[in-house]
Amino acid sequence: MAEQFDVVVIGAGPAGYHAAIRAAQLGMKVACIDAALGKDGKPALGGTCLRVGCIPSKALLDSSRQYWNLQHLFGEHGISVKDARIDVGAMIARKDKIVKQFTGGIAMLFKANKITPYYGFGQLQPGNVVKVKQHDGSEAELKAANVILAAGSDSIELPFAKFDGENIVDNVGALDFAAVPKRLGVIGAGVIGLELGSVWKRLGAEVTILEALPDFLAAADAEVAKTALKEFKKQGLEIRLGAKVSNAEVKAKGKNKEVHVTYADAEGEKTLVVDKLLVAVGRRAATRGLLAEGTGVKLDQRGMIEVDEHCHTGVDGVWAIGDCVRGPMLAHKGFEEGIAVAELIAGLPGHVNFETIPWVIYTEPEIAWVGKTEQQLKAEGVPYKAGSFPFAAIGRAVAMGEPAGFVKVLAHAETDRVLGMHLVGVGVSELVHEGVLTMEFKGSADDLARICHAHPTLSEAIHDAAMAVDKRAIHKAN
Ligand code: FAD
Ligand code: AMP
Repeated sequence: MAEQFDVVVIGAGPAGYHAAIRAAQLGMKVACIDAALGKDGKPALGGTCLRVGCIPSKALLDSSRQYWNLQHLFGEHGISVKDARIDVGAMIARKDKIVKQFTGGIAMLFKANKITPYYGFGQLQPGNVVKVKQHDGSEAELKAANVILAAGSDSIELPFAKFDGENIVDNVGALDFAAVPKRLGVIGAGVIGLELGSVWKRLGAEVTILEALPDFLAAADAEVAKTALKEFKKQGLEIRLGAKVSNAEVKAKGKNKEVHVTYADAEGEKTLVVDKLLVAVGRRAATRGLLAEGTGVKLDQRGMIEVDEHCHTGVDGVWAIGDCVRGPMLAHKGFEEGIAVAELIAGLPGHVNFETIPWVIYTEPEIAWVGKTEQQLKAEGVPYKAGSFPFAAIGRAVAMGEPAGFVKVLAHAETDRVLGMHLVGVGVSELVHEGVLTMEFKGSADDLARICHAHPTLSEAIHDAAMAVDKRAIHKAN
């Protein structure tokens, strides 16, 4: 006999656990299934984000940033330290502790919200039945009026550079190196490649990033990308653009192994020899084995679950959210879809505004944006005005010794409505939300310019950039 629920969620990542908790808050009887195990071999809720994504990467970015600043920034403040050393084991143990705290936190939240967790692999059957192969070998059968598929995503593996968990790794391996590799190669200058490349660079690795595309961070505002590239190069990150990798071979070198990476750029075929290779060429929906025959749920060409704008699959009572459906693969996009679907199931007006989803890259300097880039506005023929302001003229940023970068506000040329905000600099992962809020409330550059910002703060760069839209910035020549 199938156990009856109002809602069954497959996947307890950011999308799935938000959906489960919101549905439970709204009075529904909820089960949530997750197959993942933590480093200790025990079930760990929270998905890619908590186990091997957002949180552990930020933990390592923070540890490595402290180490880097100790060597490169403290001197300017008159602070000197002899023999600074990094204990990689202690750094990884700190990261693991944070991960455990948060994955355990989801289990506690499930308990508090009376959500039944199932630890094992879930498969949707026709008729809103879900079969679960549990880790203890038993099988459970669940039935619900509504099933939410939140299976997330897995790293894309290149056929010529298969992950071996030792020399050729994805994010999972690169978050767990036992020592700083002498030479680290990274395929892909996307968010994951840049963040994890930065971690090991700051700790002393020689990092070379190979990117097939000729443009750096093509999705970001071109000026932001240019500034970031310049700063990364200053830090010693070697970024080779227009470099398409075609092979990677692990070879023995004495007692060790090294990876010979073949790539081609404008000058022809080249080889890069590294100790570790991180393959960060994107992620794909984790839909393998998720759907039994005859469910009616469709996958697109890339294996993503097809949904409408409300995350409905077109099959009665079956929804899909997060990384396994279209849209940016970001945890907070999944959060919002999870909440929206739970609310739609409860008859409430759930909705996600794709126009105001913020993007953040947690490098140094940080990169963040919301809305359209100048390139997009030009391509769409939208008349716009741009105002920008450098952190080098912001007292707080200079006092911190972190003057790199700028803020740019883009507003409609006629209505002055803010259409985008692009930031590169210290702390911009927090500042970008001023742009999100303005756009969500359909505010103008003039609204931003007339809002009193505390002095001295980094947020003053937004104030001045908004004033610069009408060429009235106070702290620079317009
Ligand atoms: P996931 O987090 O992938 O969770 C899906 C869960 O479902 C997994 O636990 C999986 O085991 C389980 N599952 C799948 N299929 C089944 C099944 N059939 N049965 C049972 N369980 C199943 N995003 C940000 O917004 N900010 C960041 O800073 C950021 N940093 C990142 C850093 C790295 C290194 C990586 C890899 C990703 C990062 N991301 C970041 C992306 C973010 O992790 C994802 O967008 C987010 O985790 C997607 O959430 P999700 O719930 O859709 O899927
Ligand atoms: P993202 O999708 O943001 O994680 O970025 C992945 C990056 O990897 C993209 O910019 C791709 O252009 C890049 N990429 C994919 N395949 C290759 C390859 N064979 N060689 C070099 N770069 C690649």
